[in-house]
Amino acid sequence: KHVPNIYSAEMDPMLEKQEEMVQAMILYPLECYLFGEDPDTFLEKLQQSGTSQLCGKVFKGGETTYSCRDCAVDPTCVLCMDCFQNSIHKNHRYKMHSSTGGGFCDCGDTEAWKAGPLCAKHEPGASGTAKENSECQLNEEVMEHSRRVFPAVIKYIVDMLIWEEEKELPLELRISREKADNYYCVLFNDEHHSYDHVIYSLQRALGCELGEAQLHTTAIDKEGRRAVKAGHYASCQEAKEEIKRHSENVSQRPLHVEVLHVDVMAHQKFALRLGSWLNKLMSYSSDFRQIFCQICLKEDAGSEKPCFISKLILWDAKLHKGARKVLHELIFSSFFMEMEYKKLFAVEFVKYYKSLQKEYINDDHDRVLSVTALSVQMFTVPTLARHLIEEQKVITIITETLLEVLPEYLDKNDKFNFQGYSQDKLNRVYAVIYDLRYVLISKPTLWTDRLRERFLEGFVSFLRILTCMQGMEEIKRQMGQHIEVDPDWEAAIAIQMQLKNILLMFQEWCACDEELLLRAYKECHKAVMRCSTNGRSREKTVFHMCGHTLESRPYRVSTDPVSIHLPLSRTLAGLHVRLSKTGTISRLHEFVSPEEFQVDLLVEYPLRCLVLVAQVAAEMWRRNGLSLISQVFYYQDVKCREEMYDKDIIMLQIGASLMDPNHFLLLMLQRYELVDAFKKMKPTKDQDLIKQYNVLIEEMLQILIYVVGERYVPGVSNVTKEDVIMREIIHLLCIEPMAHSAITKSLPENENNETGLESVIDKVATFKKPGVSGHGVYELKDECLKEFNMFFYHYTKTQHSKAEHTQKKRRKQENRDEALPPPPPPEFSPAFSNVVKLLNCDVMMHILRTILQRAVELETHLWTEAMIQMVLHLLSLGLLEEKQQLQKSPEEEVTFDFYHKATRMGSSALNAVNVLMLLEKLRRVPQLEAQKDTVIWILQMFDTVKRLREKSSLATVIATSGSEVTKGDESTQDKEKAERKRKAEAARLHRQKIMAQMSALQRNFIETHKLLYENTLETQGKEDAIMEEER
Ligand SMILES: [Zn+2]
Ligand SMILES: [Zn+2]
Ligand SMILES: [Zn+2]
Repeated sequence: KHVPNIYSAEMDPMLEKQEEMVQAMILYPLECYLFGEDPDTFLEKLQQSGTSQLCGKVFKGGETTYSCRDCAVDPTCVLCMDCFQNSIHKNHRYKMHSSTGGGFCDCGDTEAWKAGPLCAKHEPGASGTAKENSECQLNEEVMEHSRRVFPAVIKYIVDMLIWEEEKELPLELRISREKADNYYCVLFNDEHHSYDHVIYSLQRALGCELGEAQLHTTAIDKEGRRAVKAGHYASCQEAKEEIKRHSENVSQRPLHVEVLHVDVMAHQKFALRLGSWLNKLMSYSSDFRQIFCQICLKEDAGSEKPCFISKLILWDAKLHKGARKVLHELIFSSFFMEMEYKKLFAVEFVKYYKSLQKEYINDDHDRVLSVTALSVQMFTVPTLARHLIEEQKVITIITETLLEVLPEYLDKNDKFNFQGYSQDKLNRVYAVIYDLRYVLISKPTLWTDRLRERFLEGFVSFLRILTCMQGMEEIKRQMGQHIEVDPDWEAAIAIQMQLKNILLMFQEWCACDEELLLRAYKECHKAVMRCSTNGRSREKTVFHMCGHTLESRPYRVSTDPVSIHLPLSRTLAGLHVRLSKTGTISRLHEFVSPEEFQVDLLVEYPLRCLVLVAQVAAEMWRRNGLSLISQVFYYQDVKCREEMYDKDIIMLQIGASLMDPNHFLLLMLQRYELVDAFKKMKPTKDQDLIKQYNVLIEEMLQILIYVVGERYVPGVSNVTKEDVIMREIIHLLCIEPMAHSAITKSLPENENNETGLESVIDKVATFKKPGVSGHGVYELKDECLKEFNMFFYHYTKTQHSKAEHTQKKRRKQENRDEALPPPPPPEFSPAFSNVVKLLNCDVMMHILRTILQRAVELETHLWTEAMIQMVLHLLSLGLLEEKQQLQKSPEEEVTFDFYHKATRMGSSALNAVNVLMLLEKLRRVPQLEAQKDTVIWILQMFDTVKRLREKSSLATVIATSGSEVTKGDESTQDKEKAERKRKAEAARLHRQKIMAQMSALQRNFIETHKLLYENTLETQGKEDAIMEEER
């Protein structure tokens, strides 16, 4: 304690460039005492005997860092250039980055790398001598001295850095001599004022030369603060006011200026000097680091006061730039080099996390200069993250922090509304969201009860954030006048982007464990239900079509408020497919009772959102300006779609799997505001209205195609993630051959910023080397062309027509017909298998027939070629489904009767027609010449399905009668058939179990809508079907 005191007295008068003397007068004697011998010889000995296994090199801003895409556990794991050059990773796929400063080299961290954690330089034994040296032992005497010296040094540093008095020193540092009236006017750095602005302010305030002002400004930027004027208290005070006055303007706060006594300034400077001295010392020995960390963490017994290191980090946002740098480097060189102490530091960090983040959000320095930026170093270490979740509830703490900083954006409905937000401030909030990402980046392999509880607690807390987002920034269609100002939309969409991978990670974590998934589902379901209460006051209304009745609460997207933000619904959809994927869905009723489930409410909001998109396409919202257009764009864009658009489609599939198919379609028609369009239309001359209807019908048909046909989601069908990526790439390359970068840009990135492209690209494409100029491109392999689906749900309108054009051209060149029917989709998982019932239900038949009839009769304008294409696509899907089912199971078990429904008359009227007849007529419509080949393909399919039905019923007759006709190869046919039957039976039993659960849910839906089902029965019955087939 006395050491700094004595020397500080001699320090006082000397300042500025006389730092050299510190070395001689303080540090040298200090080191002599500490080491018990000449510091230079001692340190050299230490240096030789042991380099740490961790590199720990701290990056400066702009320095190049390397990360291995094959081996890094996550993209935050980086190497310095030296280590990289000496590592195995230089022969792997790697990424180079320019550091923003503040990170450090992860060489030697076994948790950061799947392979090759050590470079040749840091490999133990690589430096010649054996392992015993790697943990270099200090002798007892030096350790003893360190234990005595470090506390004093650390206390001095802490005291001086957090010293707030401008005029006085701490008592024990005051020297008896007269206190001189010598002060400095000190100017501090911030990140708001530009260089030029500071220079200008200084010139005006101090009347100094340009050169001098520039000198000051450069030093301020570098060191963080600088004395710009020395003198008596009063004159410094005056200068302070002047600088403040000149630097302030409408948009900016004044510069931060303080008047400090020379002694205070001197001690603070010396404290920093001691900090970097310690920093250097840390690199020599693990013992030094451990002693240092112990002292920093030591808490006063019985006192509530934070330990030294916590005091410092809590003060971080108040420190000037130079001091922060010293502090952070010291943390790097001590705590972060010793795993055990890194953990203890992380615990302290999380303990004060909330206040640290709040300080940061109000701070005027960049994130790299904030202690909060250290989070990435701790949260991304898997074992550490797990420990922090289990013992410190870090997920809950982070989400609660968000809940505490975000309320300033809440509106009267407790939903976020970011109108008039400050970009800078919100960027700081994103940092907290990032921390959530870091904590979740590696999934635990082993779940303890405690981990499960803590995670679930965090998840529930996270749901509260999503609750504030569910339905936020509602919009209403503008009628009459154009809106005056485009509302802010970027903030909400940006948050959505930030959250995308976090949402996915939460879902993945939940899916690790059956119990957890179900409990999470229950919580999420509850949260969705709580948000789905608006509009409850409205009376239900009823409407009829095709003998079916829908009862629902009136709501119109075109007149009522609607929101594009539904993260709760989408999270639920994500959990639902995971329930289906893991088979856990069979236990869902234990957690959410069928009465609570209310599938129609779950579907409602995502459906509204899709209708909004349709109405925007129909230009019904053009008076709402560009803001809405942008939102709709991002909703479907690769950056957001996984947790927006895609999940809404899934939610509709969930609805279609659990609701009666006719009711589902009636709900669609009603929400698309198309009920009238499918009734007998009164002829209208209103061209705008006709156009509007046509676009809406197209949009709805397209969504129906997606609901029935899009099954490339693990859980919706039995596909893998690789299958999904392959399909994305195939469809991109069906548009045209593409460069690597173009493909990458169109694929979603996971939490590790990877698209998964490399692992599959060679299966679907061949690389064409570049010609003389230009770049190489990938071309789709021929065998993948059959996967092409014209109505691939991630195509934009332009991509769709380009792809169609390319593929038709190709077929023409090959002298083939131009039909582009859908590829046979993978079979739905049991939980989703009811979705196909949409295809052969009455309302669907009515929709298909109505559109075809309008085209054939050419009487109304309520049809377009695009619409016909979609109808043909749906017909193809129906026939493909029936064909697949017939090939898999015996005819009598196939209840999917698309053929039958499509060949049945629409009504008993004399001029009634069926779909098949309409198709025949369609071939002769001159406007639809381009669709002729597709129509022919479909007619052939009708034929195929018909023959399959006939053949298999014939075969059944033969088999069951045991007739003598069976001989030779026919008996093998029988065997095959028996085998097929056995397999089908096994599959059926497996399905049955899950289906039983699903139908419980469905039954309940029917129960609650009991009345509506009375009318539906008449449409069943099979007798007349056989009649028609034989005709
Ligand atoms: Zn390194
Ligand atoms: Zn290394
Ligand atoms: Zn590697």
